[in-house]
Amino acid sequence: MSASAVDRMLQIVADAVQDPRVIAAMRAVPREQFVPRRERPRAYADAALDIGQRQTISQPLIVGMMTEALELQGDEHVLEIGTGSGYQTAILARLAADVVTVERIDALRARADETLRGLGCENVRCMAAGEVLGAAEHAPYDAVIVTAAAPEIPEPLLEQLRPGGRIVIPVGSRGSQDLIVATKTAAGTTRRSLGLCRFVPLIGAGGFTEQ
Ligand code: SAH
Repeated sequence: MSASAVDRMLQIVADAVQDPRVIAAMRAVPREQFVPRRERPRAYADAALDIGQRQTISQPLIVGMMTEALELQGDEHVLEIGTGSGYQTAILARLAADVVTVERIDALRARADETLRGLGCENVRCMAAGEVLGAAEHAPYDAVIVTAAAPEIPEPLLEQLRPGGRIVIPVGSRGSQDLIVATKTAAGTTRRSLGLCRFVPLIGAGGFTEQ
C-alpha cells in the first residue's frame, strides 16, 4: 500500500485528533492486514469496512478519537470489548502497557489473534467472551474501550474499571449513538460526548439481543 494512502487517511484523522502519539501509533499499524483481501484496496479509506460475520472494522477517524480520549501515558492496563479485526487493539498495544481484548465471535477472535501475533504484538491477550461482560479475572483496568454500541454504560464494565479510570463507549440505540467518554468517580461517573456515531451492537448482557 502506498505511503500516500496512509498519509491521506492520517490527514483526515488529524482534523479531529491532536495527540501526536495517537497519530504515530496509527501510522505504525498496517490497516490492510486487518481487513479481508477483497477490502484491501480500500484499507486506508476513512470508512468502516466489512470484516465478515456481519461485523466491521471501525472508521479510522473514530478509532483515533476513541484512542485519544483514553489519554494513555504508556503504563496502563487496558480492557477492550469487541476485538473484531484487532486493528484498534494493535493501536492500543502501542500506547499502553498491555491490552486484554474480548470478542464473542470465535472466528474473529482467532483471526485477530493470528494477525496481532504476526505483527509481534506481545502485550495483547485475546479472550473469548464469557458469561459476564468484560474480563473480570484481569481487573481492575486503568482504561476501558467498547467498540460496540450499548443502551447504557454496562455496570460490570464500571466495576472492572479502577476509580479515576476512563471508559469510552458508544451509548444509544441500535441505529445511532453518542460517543461517550466517562471517568469513574466515587459518586458514579462524569461524562462528556465526542459526538454522534454508529457502531454494530454489543450483544448480550449490557447490550442488545441478536437479530
Ligand atoms: N474494534 C473493532 C470493531 C469490531 S466491531 C475493529 O476495529 O475491528 C465490534 C465487535 O464487537 C464485533 O466483532 C462483535 O462480534 C463484538 N461484540 C459484540 N458483542 C460483544 C460482547 N458482548 N463481548 C465481546 N465482543 C462483542
